[in-house]
Order: sequence, then C-alpha cells, then structure tokens
Amino acid sequence: MTVDDLDLGTTTEELPPESEAPRSEPAPAKRYQIFFDQSYIDPDVRKVVRRLTRYGHEAYLVGGCVRDLLLARKPKDFDVCTSAHPEEVRALFRNSRIIGRRFRLVHVMFHGRKVIEVATFRRTPKPDGAGELIRNDNAFGRADEDAQRRDFTINALFYDVENSHILDWVGGMRDIRKRLVRTIGEPEKRFHEDPVRMLRAVKFAGRLDLGLDPQLYQALEFCRGDLQLSARPRVAEEILRLLRGGQARRSIYIAWETGVLDVLLPELAALLYDAEGDDTAGARIWKQLAFIDERHEAGQVLDDTSLWTLLLLESMKEACEGQRDRARAVSDFLDGLIERLAITRRCADGMRRIVAALPRIQSGRPGRLVRSETFPLALDVAEADLRSMGESTRVLAKMRDAYKEKAKEKTRSKRRR
Ligand code: ATP
Ligand code: MG
Repeated sequence: MTVDDLDLGTTTEELPPESEAPRSEPAPAKRYQIFFDQSYIDPDVRKVVRRLTRYGHEAYLVGGCVRDLLLARKPKDFDVCTSAHPEEVRALFRNSRIIGRRFRLVHVMFHGRKVIEVATFRRTPKPDGAGELIRNDNAFGRADEDAQRRDFTINALFYDVENSHILDWVGGMRDIRKRLVRTIGEPEKRFHEDPVRMLRAVKFAGRLDLGLDPQLYQALEFCRGDLQLSARPRVAEEILRLLRGGQARRSIYIAWETGVLDVLLPELAALLYDAEGDDTAGARIWKQLAFIDERHEAGQVLDDTSLWTLLLLESMKEACEGQRDRARAVSDFLDGLIERLAITRRCADGMRRIVAALPRIQSGRPGRLVRSETFPLALDVAEADLRSMGESTRVLAKMRDAYKEKAKEKTRSKRRR
C-alpha cells in the first residue's frame, strides 16, 4: 500500500477545532479504515493490544510505527498506548516490568530480547511557570489528549488493530498524504516548550524524505537559538540519529539549510558554505556523509565514534594542519565541543586516536593502533576520507583483511583455551 492508495474518504466523524476540546469532554477522532500488510505488524504486538482490550482497556499502536506503516516502511519497533495505568498493565503480563521514574512505562518482554513498550495515555502538562519550557510531563489523560501532546501530526496517529482503524485528532492523515512535517499547534510555541523538537523535524524530513511545513520552517529560524537551552545529551543523541537513519547526507543538508547547524556546529556549517568545486572541505564532507548512507544501505551501522569523527573530520583535519602533534591538536579542537555536545569520553578518545593516526593508516603504516579496538573504526574513517578525495582505498583493503584474520585467530585460540 502506498500513501496515494489511502482512502481518505471513509471519515466517520469530523475533527473539532482545538479550542473546542475542553478537558471534560473527549474530542471525537476522524477514523479511516486502513488495512496494512499483515507481515509488517509484529504478532506479539497484536497479542499485547488484544489482551489489553479484552480486559476492558483502550489500546492502540501509536507514534513512529503507525507513521512508518502509512508510509509503507517496515517499522523498527512498536509502541502501544493504552488507557490502563502502569500497574494494571503490569498485572496483565507475566513477563513485564515497570520502568522509568519520571514517566512510568511498562516493558513487556518476549523471546529473543524483544521488548514492547506500553505507555499510559498522558496529557499536556501545564508549563512550569518560568516561560514555556516543559519539564514535568507526567499526568495521565485520554487518547485524544495523548495525541495532542505529541510533537508532529504524522507522529500522533493511533491504530486500532482489531478494527483496522486509524484514529486522527490532529490532521495527521492529511499530512501523511501531503508528505509534510507539521507541528501539532503553533510551531513556535511547540519549539519553545522543547527545542529538541526542531532537530526531530529535521530528522523526519531527512530520513523519510518529507517536506517541512512553511510555518514550521519559519519557526526554525526564530527558535533555533533555543537549542542551546536543551539538555546536551538529548541534543547529542538526536544528532547521532540524523546520521544513523540512512539519510545522513540529506538530514545534515536540511539542518544546514535551516540554520540549525549554525547553532549546533558552527565550525561544520562554515565549511559547508564553501563547497564549490571538488577540492573543497565542503564538497568532501557531503561525500563523507554519503559514505555513511552507503554503509547503512549495506546493512552496517557505523559506531558512534566513527559517526562523530566523520561529521567533524574536515574540521579536525584543518585543526591539524601544520601541527607536529596531531593528537594534541585534535584534543584542543575537541575540548570545547565535548562540553557543548556531551560527546562521551570514550568517543572523544577514539576520535583523537583515529585522526592522529590517519596519515599513517592511509600510507599503510598503522603502527600500534592495529592492536586496538579502534582500528576497524579508523579504517572506516580512512576509507571515507580517501574516497571523498577520489583516491584509491586499496591499501586499506589489505589492512582490513589482515585485521579480520587476526581477530579470527584470537577467537580460535580463546576457544582452544
Ligand atoms: P523513530 O522511528 O526515530 O523511533 P519515533 O516517532 O518513534 O521515531 P521516538 O523518539 O521513538 O520517535 O518517540 C515516539 C513518539 O513519542 C513519537 O512518535 C512522538 O509521538 C512522541 N514524541 C517523541 N519525542 C517527543 C517530543 N520531544 N515532544 C512530543 N512528542 C514526542
Ligand atoms: Mg520510536
């Protein structure tokens, strides 16, 4: 099924304007009858939903999985939301546990370490007085309220598995069809509440090849500075998600075009302004990002250390120019960034070692690094770098084979012991 096949004519109820939905009266949803490819929905998810509904609770698939199904993509995981409170969910599933302190969710465990997350409907909390930033997000609510508190319309669709109905309180089906990322409510307000949503908008536009609603786009310009107010580990995680989703190049392009990158990584944004001709750092960066996507396409997710290194490679190379001690030059460059972006010690250490050793690796003399776990990551970076310069990677292939052979030997001798 594709988006164009969606029958948007089977609406049963009308969507009321937001202001007409007071807390005491649940708003009716628009309903759409949609049949998904059965093989796309995990049978265990069906079991979870069925058991909840059999015991008198409301339960739906929600969020990214519904969005992906509608865009004819196989979801990577499934989230269930329900009217049942965490203790009630816990009581229904033997293999389950309550997690989280700030908001409590239930994890239902299945074979093969599969976990299905079940969340109780929540409603938008009141802002905490000082400005619009939301810090406390923990009040239980109804399904329609749960939809309203979500970030984008395409992420707030609920799927009733038993009846094959999409429930839409926010105009998400219209936006799926238009292939648009649109915030629920005023974009500026939603971005002030939680600036990380700006990065999420960029991520969905990049990964799913969607457009940005013009109002949202404008709001990015006004609000992007607020990203500096967000918790740094959340920002770091969203940057990594931009790189991991299979469309790193397009995602970083959108971040750059919208000016979001100027706020987060001005040193990178500056290099991208100068990407005319093949022999510029900017041109090489786009090729290095395309390398990440090629690896993803081949089923290989690069390590976080390699991702950070590739994102900042040209900036780090520039910092090393004319310096005898490359490790020191990279350390100095990373000093401020580690703070600003919450790059972990482990990653920063790996980045330093990789960039310091890069010229040696590329000339076939990797030295002691061969014995470290960083070596295969360094080979990935060296390959992306050589390819971005249009140079041969033959020397790396030999080292890769030798490393694999050594690794095999190691496991063999361990087994013997
Ligand atoms: P992905 O495929 O990257 O996992 P996702 O949409 O499932 O995409 P999650 O981060 O897993 O994203 O979040 C699950 C759902 O929670 C989202 O679909 C959205 O409805 C809601 N959500 C997540 N982050 C926010 C946020 N910052 N503000 C409001 N709602 C959010
Ligand atoms: Mg998800």
